[in-house]
Amino acid sequence: MMPAYNLPPEFRALATLPERPRLLVVDDQPINIQTLYQIFHADHEIFMATSGDQALAFCRDNIPPDLILLDVVMPGMDGIEVCRRLKSDPALADIPVIFVTARSDPADEAGALAAGGVDFIAKPVNPAVVRARVKTHLTLKAQTDLLHSLVFIDGLTGVANRRRFDEALQIEWRRCRRSNTPLTLLMIDIDHFKRYNDYYGHQTGDACLQKVAASLRAGLKRAQDLVARYGGEEFVCLMPECDHPASQNKAEELRAAVVALGIPRADSPTANCVTLSIGVAVMQPNGENAPEALIAAADAALYEAKRNGRNRVTASLSA
Ligand code: GH3
Ligand code: MG
Ligand code: MG
Repeated sequence: MMPAYNLPPEFRALATLPERPRLLVVDDQPINIQTLYQIFHADHEIFMATSGDQALAFCRDNIPPDLILLDVVMPGMDGIEVCRRLKSDPALADIPVIFVTARSDPADEAGALAAGGVDFIAKPVNPAVVRARVKTHLTLKAQTDLLHSLVFIDGLTGVANRRRFDEALQIEWRRCRRSNTPLTLLMIDIDHFKRYNDYYGHQTGDACLQKVAASLRAGLKRAQDLVARYGGEEFVCLMPECDHPASQNKAEELRAAVVALGIPRADSPTANCVTLSIGVAVMQPNGENAPEALIAAADAALYEAKRNGRNRVTASLSA
């Protein structure tokens, strides 16, 4: 078995890579699929499609493949169109597409690359060449994915980081404005966390942050909801299309779930376990307000929750 990636061990320790990368081979001629199957099946998981429609359906209905080997000339939808459609679907746009084709003049090649393909291989395929190219592109994709996760994920807790939240807030704000639906923000803060650190030490403090983050993530079940670490011991939940009183109920659920974890503490004047205070703000984005106002409102509500005794949910007055 040959390694499917060309990556140093220190990289492999950081990334979660499939043991056998999943390749989708698309060609209207089964004999061509057979050839590629022979080349790759020992160290890759191979899926096959004999038309563009089948290929798109496979990608949409399954865990998307890690890479696609795509024939250009096919009856019905050709490979170029398949590639364009993949690239216009945000869920599929990142899958590297390598064109494999008998039509190999520079204009065809340019057209295939312009459609979003990463590479172009001439038929009949040379096993060493196609192997090397696939390995290169799987490696590049793995590197891009790792970079993405390092840039957008909080290293300690594994939830989204502040950068990712800032981006998501802008995007969801505009989306909710277009669709005329409300946007909810929860600002969440661990109560008396400085004392917890002082009493139990920073390592236990870090473990507590991890447990709280995992609990928040488990509590948000809709795909469009986002949990992020906003700052030291502060988290945010961004929930599109969530109105009162659903947002307040959700916040109450999240608060109760962390109490139910029963992380003991002997240092807190509030309770004998780790607790959260949560500020809730709901806004309908429009031409007059801005995402900063949503943050300010959630912040003000959090401040009220603290002032009123902690371990509670308080909704913003403006909502
Ligand atoms: P309040 O109930 O008013 O929120 O009090 P507090 O002590 O939680 O608030 P404050 O903002 O004063 O303290 C936050 C503390 O969070 C300070 C710092 O020791 C701790 N903290 C921030 N980031 C980390 C981290 O990454 N790991 C650990 N262990 N502690 C952190
Ligand atoms: Mg704080
Ligand atoms: Mg705090």
